[in-house]
Amino acid sequence: MPGPFRALIALSLLLLGACATTLSDHPTRSAVLGAPVSQTAMLDSLARPGNVTLEKAAVADWHFPNTVRDPGTTDWRIRQLDAQIYVYAIVHPRFGLYLIDAGLPADYEAWFDPILRNVVRKDYGLTLRTGTEALVARWGAPKGVFITHLHYDHVLGVVALDRSTPLYVGPHDGEQKSPFHQIIARPVAKALKSRPPLNAWRFAPAAEGELAAVDIFGDGSVFALHAPGHTPGSTAYLVNTPHGPQLITGDAFHSREAWTGQFEEATGFEADLPQIHRSHAALKALSARLPGLLVHPGHQTLPPE
Ligand SMILES: [Zn+2]
Repeated sequence: MPGPFRALIALSLLLLGACATTLSDHPTRSAVLGAPVSQTAMLDSLARPGNVTLEKAAVADWHFPNTVRDPGTTDWRIRQLDAQIYVYAIVHPRFGLYLIDAGLPADYEAWFDPILRNVVRKDYGLTLRTGTEALVARWGAPKGVFITHLHYDHVLGVVALDRSTPLYVGPHDGEQKSPFHQIIARPVAKALKSRPPLNAWRFAPAAEGELAAVDIFGDGSVFALHAPGHTPGSTAYLVNTPHGPQLITGDAFHSREAWTGQFEEATGFEADLPQIHRSHAALKALSARLPGLLVHPGHQTLPPE
């Protein structure tokens, strides 16, 4: 979810009393799926040929203000970002279909309060290409959804899935407080209502400069990587495909220019800037160890190298 809203939102927050609220208070339990793995063991697994297929769907187009600065400078500025919302289907030969992020349902606007509906429609110009219902019709019903973080543009599509579909997220992702959550958190709360607890990845502490990793299926094929900063539980996913490893960064990186280093990003609600920079550095360091890695930033697509 993009950064600072403008006048309409500021005014609304004043009217709402500007109380900082959490992103989500939906119950969470420790995920049974997946076990912590060292970066060395993960890199060893990724050196072998992959067998998990990955398909990427751009489900919506929009544009939003991204907070950026030129490398080595101190002044942040707003840069309008032409962006997409993505859902990824991964198919494991033994464990089947899982989604990474959930997209948006066909009736996504009905889940928004009027303020958010206005901003998303008029300021962000969101145009839906494919609702999650159509993705399920194309791909089938997933066994679970690996969520990058709990912002509505990554989660709301779960309403198109069976209520019992397990949802996996990074630890403590809903606990961050911000006045903006008065507006952006409501659709997520409604979408998760009467669903089972979220399953939080069991990350172990990582070595300095590395990311905590979980081997999701226990066979070195798909990994969850804890990349906090944008939100406390922000999680990237690394998938070993027949075409080599692919990295889904989530909103740790929003844009292709942030990934390639043309500018730095600070987009987020009460985001933890030093932590964003540590996660950026760790993701870039990991990518340097994986030649030919295909990278998918949160809201744009990189051309193949
Ligand atoms: Zn987002």
